[in-house]
Amino acid sequence: MPQESRITREDLEFDRLHIWHPYSSVTDPPPVWPVAGAEGCRIRLADGRELVDGMASWWSVIHGYNHPRLNRAALDQINGFSHVMFGGLTHKPAIGLCRRLVDLTPEGLDRVFICDSGSVAVEVAIKMALQYQHARGRPEKHRLVTIRNGYHGDTFAAMSVCDPVTGMHSIFSGALPKQFFAPAPQTPFSGDFHEDDIAELAGIIAEHHGEIAALILEPVVQGAGGMRFYSPRYLARARELCDRYGLLLIADEIATGFGRTGRMFACEHAGISPDIICLGKAMTGGYLSLAATLCTGEVARTVCAGAAGCFMHGPTFMANPLACRIACESIDLLLESPWQEKIAAMEERMRAGLAPCSLLPAVKDVRVLGGIGVVELARTPDFRRLQESLVDRGVWVRPFGRLVYIMPPYVISDEELDTLTAAMVETLTGLD
Ligand code: PMP
Repeated sequence: MPQESRITREDLEFDRLHIWHPYSSVTDPPPVWPVAGAEGCRIRLADGRELVDGMASWWSVIHGYNHPRLNRAALDQINGFSHVMFGGLTHKPAIGLCRRLVDLTPEGLDRVFICDSGSVAVEVAIKMALQYQHARGRPEKHRLVTIRNGYHGDTFAAMSVCDPVTGMHSIFSGALPKQFFAPAPQTPFSGDFHEDDIAELAGIIAEHHGEIAALILEPVVQGAGGMRFYSPRYLARARELCDRYGLLLIADEIATGFGRTGRMFACEHAGISPDIICLGKAMTGGYLSLAATLCTGEVARTVCAGAAGCFMHGPTFMANPLACRIACESIDLLLESPWQEKIAAMEERMRAGLAPCSLLPAVKDVRVLGGIGVVELARTPDFRRLQESLVDRGVWVRPFGRLVYIMPPYVISDEELDTLTAAMVETLTGLD
């Protein structure tokens, strides 16, 4: 192992005293496990233990770690050029990526804005919607409507459309734009949809469409806001409401995109196209942060016919060639693989593997869709104990609130998947 990657006791002490981890306290930091390497679906800890990865590093590492083709693409691009500014310049990695995205995404989405992270992709989508309405002579349509239990990122506009309770809007209320919230959809993915489920959203839109630019939601799967799967019929009705009342539909497919729900994009379950789509996470196979916001030609042309004459955004690292090149390779790897069969097999195996959880007293619900397996507990568990006992069983599964969930790399073997689900069953059996 290279000297630089060896972690000492002092390093860990420095980490504890100086480094913020996601959503963590600096005064009472939760434990962190030092990583020495990662390969395929395994994460190797500094003490030599190997963990089977159930998280795909938060939906992103779909092809597994240390993939020879992604490594080769990265090295090849580094040996050419890692970065050039995108203002006034262009390059093959960006063109290649945008070609692939225009081809793959639902019909009509043919203008691509490449940006740095999922949260920024959401900011970009919201700005596009506002500039669009402004350019149509409707500047008063500057608010958003969304559904509760959503998660769209950690920057301010993105936060403003996250669930107000889990997103702790009370802390930021003075600074956050005020948006409209409808109840979260209640009809499960395969449930019978009734119009009642969308009545409140329809009511808000009917009453306030004059001030609303767009509806933003995570299609079919609400991720970090509750790992909830809802009926594609709801999404199809939401599309109709947007059309009827002159709202743009923004689909946040940052978590669901690139096959995770069993379709390339979750919108396909409902057979709809949004006006704007946000992509990220799995786009580079988890190698680098990169995201994209695509919109229709009509949205793009209207934005550019407005007062600014352009879209008002342009980050320093826009379309970073290294990240774009890896994204092209990651998308090719996905398309060359039998990903539909693989996800369907994962779904079936997870469903069987997690079924014993539904008999446990601590468990409220077990649900599986595509490559996502969720166990929802009745009460919030002792997070540290739960996390430690999962690691002790040789798996990397990161519980969140009352949710213990997995979305493994697509290349996971049957045995590795069984290890993950068995470890979850055993760990949760110990809970009261
Ligand atoms: N939208 C959704 C649906 C997400 O799941 C996430 C990340 N968890 C984001 C937006 C924000 O992406 P990022 O963390 O890359 O900013």
